[in-house]
Amino acid sequence: SIVVTGATGNLGRHVVEQLLEKVPADQITAVVRNADKASGFADRGVKIALADYNDPASYDGLFSAGDKVLLISGNEFDKGRVQQHQVVIDAAKAAGVALLAYTSAPGTLTASLADDHRGTEEILLDSGVPYALLRNGWYHENYTENLAPVLEHNAVVAAAGEGKLSSASRADYAAAAVAVLTGEGHENTTYELGGDTPWSFAEYAAELSRQTGKEITYSAVSPDALVGILTGAGLPEPFARTLAGVDVSIEKGELVVSSGDLSRLTGRPTTPLSEAIATALKG
Ligand code: NDP
Repeated sequence: SIVVTGATGNLGRHVVEQLLEKVPADQITAVVRNADKASGFADRGVKIALADYNDPASYDGLFSAGDKVLLISGNEFDKGRVQQHQVVIDAAKAAGVALLAYTSAPGTLTASLADDHRGTEEILLDSGVPYALLRNGWYHENYTENLAPVLEHNAVVAAAGEGKLSSASRADYAAAAVAVLTGEGHENTTYELGGDTPWSFAEYAAELSRQTGKEITYSAVSPDALVGILTGAGLPEPFARTLAGVDVSIEKGELVVSSGDLSRLTGRPTTPLSEAIATALKG
């Protein structure tokens, strides 16, 4: 089987949808914590397995020898994501899976947000399980799904100076994962995945202006100022600092991905940022 954890998340849903276009539904297992969220998949014949990264016993016997598994990194930053991911890696090893693909972060990213990914990669490589590291760059949607404050203030605010980043849509990264899960020869390979065309926040503001007909400008602020703005908007301070750290990495160019791996794996150009903006503005 092809087994996908985090299958009811944003990326996981794209992966399962795209798998359904390529393989029979009964060859796909969606691992979820909440069966209700997966009822649409179950209706279409996808197998559902219930498991939680915080409950090692829930992974006992879940995988079979020869499975190809996609471990989608979790989003519970306060619960020790490396240990959570290790639960899946240990179970995959015990079962003798054929491949464990993991959604990581770009190898160039030094921001603290990457620490859990580096920790998980280390455990995966030490495990001896055949692996594929899908080092996903940033999602367009990190920005385009958070347009309300931008449109309210006619300003894109970031602490990234003139730095650029190579984002792509979640659907693009899902397509790369599907290519790896359904293809051959991806064992023990690291993919640096990102959009074909790096962009700056000034360019993002200009494209938003073009599509909305408003004058939207880029306001480059310091990391501390960004933390103040984000905590003012209700984000917990540690998370605000983590996000500001990502912007500092963007300024240094750490989220520019120039490998071409994403479009090569999917066989098509990555989704342009302008298209993600248009989709978001349509609501
Ligand atoms: P989501 O937050 O939409 O999905 C996270 C998934 O992880 C959900 O399916 C969630 O389950 C599952 N999950 C979280 N904790 C547990 C747990 N304890 N046990 C089992 N499942 C769990 O994120 P996306 O799909 O958008 O992105 C996937 C991952 O990529 C994120 O979790 C994060 O690690 C990373 N990410 C990457 C970004 C990028 O720009 N590259 C941006 C943001 C995140 P449930 O559906 O039940 O909630």
